[in-house]
Amino acid sequence: MIAKARTIIKNIFGYENFRPLQEDVIKNILEKNDTLVIMPTGGGKSLCYQIPALIFNGLTIVISPLISLMKDQVEQLNELGVNAVFLNSSLSYEKYQENVSLIVQKKVKLLYLAPETLFKQKTLGLLSALKIDSLTIDEAHCISEWGHDFRPEYRQLAQIRERFPSAVCVALTATATQRVRKDIKEILGFSTSNSFVASFDRTNLFLEIKTKVNPLEQTIEHIKKFPDNSGIIYCFSRKQVDGLSNNLKEYGFSVKPYHAGLTETERRENQELFIRDDVQIIVATIAFGMGINKPNVRFVIHYDLPKNIEGYYQEIGRAGRDGLQAHCLLLFSYGDLQKVKYFIKQKEESEQLIANIHLNALVGFVESDACRRIPLLNYFGEDYSKTNCGICDNCISGEKQLVDITIPAQKFLSCVKRTDEIFGISHIIDVLRGSKSQKIAKFNHQDLSTYGIGKDFSKNQWFHMARQFIQKGLMEQDLKFGSLKLKEKTYDVFKGKELVFGTLQDEHKEYVQKEEIDLKYDKKLFDILRKERKELADTSNVPPYVIFPDKTLIDISTHFPQSRESLLKMHGIGNEKLRKYGDIFLDIICKYCKESQIEELPKITSKKLVKQIAPSMTRKYVIISEEYNSGASIRELMEKYNIKSDTVINHLFEYFTENGTIRRDGLLESSNLNSQQQSMVFKSFDKLGTDLLKPIFSDLNEEISYGELKLLLLYYNTN
Ligand code: ADP
Repeated sequence: MIAKARTIIKNIFGYENFRPLQEDVIKNILEKNDTLVIMPTGGGKSLCYQIPALIFNGLTIVISPLISLMKDQVEQLNELGVNAVFLNSSLSYEKYQENVSLIVQKKVKLLYLAPETLFKQKTLGLLSALKIDSLTIDEAHCISEWGHDFRPEYRQLAQIRERFPSAVCVALTATATQRVRKDIKEILGFSTSNSFVASFDRTNLFLEIKTKVNPLEQTIEHIKKFPDNSGIIYCFSRKQVDGLSNNLKEYGFSVKPYHAGLTETERRENQELFIRDDVQIIVATIAFGMGINKPNVRFVIHYDLPKNIEGYYQEIGRAGRDGLQAHCLLLFSYGDLQKVKYFIKQKEESEQLIANIHLNALVGFVESDACRRIPLLNYFGEDYSKTNCGICDNCISGEKQLVDITIPAQKFLSCVKRTDEIFGISHIIDVLRGSKSQKIAKFNHQDLSTYGIGKDFSKNQWFHMARQFIQKGLMEQDLKFGSLKLKEKTYDVFKGKELVFGTLQDEHKEYVQKEEIDLKYDKKLFDILRKERKELADTSNVPPYVIFPDKTLIDISTHFPQSRESLLKMHGIGNEKLRKYGDIFLDIICKYCKESQIEELPKITSKKLVKQIAPSMTRKYVIISEEYNSGASIRELMEKYNIKSDTVINHLFEYFTENGTIRRDGLLESSNLNSQQQSMVFKSFDKLGTDLLKPIFSDLNEEISYGELKLLLLYYNTN
């Protein structure tokens, strides 16, 4: 059966290989063992249950908590030619009935439902008459009170299982904490052996933490590095979201806000604009993100400190779902840390302890000089064995040399003392650097002996050192106000009894990220393809990534495929996408390559193209074409399957492309063109060849439909 899965991954999904664990998971599900899948966001969980769903004879029910997630999955599956539907309150009565009827007729392979819809008598009644092969629970952490998104209705899924005795139960989540994993298994009654836990290392995410000095300026500078690319900026409060989003708008960026204070319509609209690539940036509170499947988010900025590591990990997880490199920047300031500490202080005492433990773990991560992945993955119970990940700020800046910073420490700490230990880091730095700010004048700090003695270091460098002074226990910061206080140890530094060693921030070093091989593509062609994709997406009213992910366009702009066979080798192009969009894209690629004199660069694929279709996967076009070849006419097939003549022709065309055999007699008779028009079409075939239809279409003044052209092309090419 796993051989079938391999056929499907290429033919339907257009992927070359399985990702780690996917194959094992699929095998386990096909053997009907209950399966728990824990993979990070973007890890490829969906495929794990979708492929078995296509192999099973019966229906797969997928429980999903959010309408937007269901809609997204169903749209993507339909685009791949897979029969999937959802039932929920967002559907019109007619659409709901249409979906029910498809389910009853057993024409559906995957049915997406919210738990509350499943529990309805109406739904249970509908399902009781069907063979259910899999009960899949997506976002399974919702079952656990320890998760970040507990949904009581998920609990009832444990009992509902009994109603579907032949169904294997599959639970999937990206939640990494042990407690939640244990809960899911216990509540659903899974055995340990059938859990699959992938690494939580998102190797395509670049992690960077910068001292927050001038956040607006830093943000603008950063997003300028990602022209036309999608990004999310997380802020602490609604007010900040509105402020920053207005500021960025004034600077000419394409940006929308998102927070719980906006009306539902505003939120939905802004989210939709972002998903459809009509808006580049979303500035949001943490309310934004659940239910977003957008794969091409290229950057996430934390404008403020996240609450804890789990939150941070989830938020950065929204970047780079497509596996291409994405950047995660966190702007850190001790002022923000004070803010969070202050909020924690307002909590109940019992909650304070846990919140502080979480916050300390986050601070450890932020302040670490070593690879960022070590504290991050350790938090999720994973040992990270590499010492250099090559994709975080610390690793890329090389080993930092420890230097003697006793003198700057003495300057800084004595300035703290001379200002009576009532000011924060920023003000101390201003005094040391001889700032002319109002605050300095107000307190007459220009008269201090420490005024202007620290001009040899930048603001950034001082911040970096101040962080180390706190870490080394030379001073501490007041929880509420952020003012600095000296500690016992400081006096030994003053007296020169203790030396201070630390690292200096290299001012001029910009991180040069490793360029990914797959990013060396023809950007001009990529842009042309992107525009075409957007038009197609808008016409079909779906997000662009549903048509093709960026990765497909990058693959094309790297290899310049100029035939249907080459196009099939591109990431994410299976038979259905080839059928739907092959001609349109080939036309663009060929034209571009001709104009720019670019030759196709063959893509070396690790496996030979799998051509044959697995028996149980026999697709509609195969059934219809075989019936046609056995003597049925196009009209008879139209009536039998209740489809248009163009659809029948498309099926025959697809079959012909794959197998090269279509009965010739009967084709010409089905054409609505007169003999003169037909001979014009054949002349055009003679002149331009039959590899691409669009040039023929243009040659004939766009007067002959693609359906007719395909029909005559079949006639022309068969003998
Ligand atoms: P998750 O649900 O774990 O967040 P998805 O199932 O949405 O992840 O998959 C993330 C991305 O990876 C999608 O764009 C998907 O098309 C792609 N993907 C999944 N499996 C593979 C694979 N075997 N080869 C290539 N791309 C894959």
